[in-house]
Amino acid sequence: MASKQVSFAKEKVVREFLVPDYYKDFHCKGGNCRDSCCVEWKVTIPMEQYFLLHGLKCKTSVKEKIDRAFRPLLNPTKDRYAEIVHNYDGDCPLHKKDGYCLLHETCGEEVLPWVCRFYPRGPRIDIANEASCANSCEKTLELLFSSSNKLSFEIRSLTFLISKPKEAIPEERKLLYIKVRDNIFSLLTNRDYPLHLRIINLGKYLSVMGENTQIDLNEIDFSFNIPEYDIDENHQLLWSLLEMFDSKYKRLDEQLSEARSNYLLKDVAEVYNKNKEHLERTINNHEIYFEKMLINDLFFKQFPFQNNFSVYDQYLALCGTYVLLRYLTLNLMTNKSSIDDYIDILAKSFTVISHSEFDKLISSFMKRLEIKELASLSKILQM
Ligand code: SF4
Repeated sequence: MASKQVSFAKEKVVREFLVPDYYKDFHCKGGNCRDSCCVEWKVTIPMEQYFLLHGLKCKTSVKEKIDRAFRPLLNPTKDRYAEIVHNYDGDCPLHKKDGYCLLHETCGEEVLPWVCRFYPRGPRIDIANEASCANSCEKTLELLFSSSNKLSFEIRSLTFLISKPKEAIPEERKLLYIKVRDNIFSLLTNRDYPLHLRIINLGKYLSVMGENTQIDLNEIDFSFNIPEYDIDENHQLLWSLLEMFDSKYKRLDEQLSEARSNYLLKDVAEVYNKNKEHLERTINNHEIYFEKMLINDLFFKQFPFQNNFSVYDQYLALCGTYVLLRYLTLNLMTNKSSIDDYIDILAKSFTVISHSEFDKLISSFMKRLEIKELASLSKILQM
């Protein structure tokens, strides 16, 4: 075991956190994980952690591996100073064949880069004390999909190393966050309506809430004439969303080209209806899974209170994410039928959605496609 050497910029925080019900059951799958987060991820570490790792005292054979596993970035900053140098097969060089981490095993948990130590957990201590697990981890999705109950939340005492917020958030903004979030979750979990209609109702609420932040749900007129939609037209729009996603992130390249080839020789509506029927038959709880997954993602990112991002743009990002994932699963599940296949597509997609500037990108893309008003959104949300 390495000698004590820790001096982090982050502080140890022990607090009561609001967490989703599955949180207590989360354990990393280690060697049983089908798509480990140690593979391909561009993990960066701060300067302090880089020098801490270089100063570790441990067995020479291990030390040589650790020193070669991280290298300074070309344009380093204090917070993003060095990156993991992956093996030729995209794996972290410290990721052992049995799934465990050589650094963790040899030097102890306290020297692990923060992201490796806590992932997929995302603690927040600014507008509220909250923690949840990212949908990019397959275990999170497995826990979410293990029951059809609505996602519930509970208080747990947790410890994290975390940077304290630079500025205090006014008490009334914190209260508003809780009220708005409760309203959002109540709309999204109202299973009297199909999920796309709940998302439209959420858009209505957010528009009205922009004028009157204190408005209650029972004061809003949610009536709405759902317009007819055209499968061919929607397909063109949705496929351009999928292509944008693929061109930026390349994580589902091969699967998407295969799905694209299904449309080349056949009628779009025929392929779409066949794919939809297959998804509904094989993953028959998929609407409930989508509900739980979206709520978990919104909780993770503190929707709609993300910084430097207007409420309506956050809503557009939510709609874009929903239709993208729905169309992705619908088209990529054609030759598959297991829940593991379904989870793999979604978890892979969330490695991008939850850990990049994806929300801003997709909301501006939706605007470019002129899908930004409730009328046009409601056409595409029905697919
Ligand atoms: S993706 Fe999740 S389950 Fe898999 S190795 Fe990472 S933390 Fe563990």
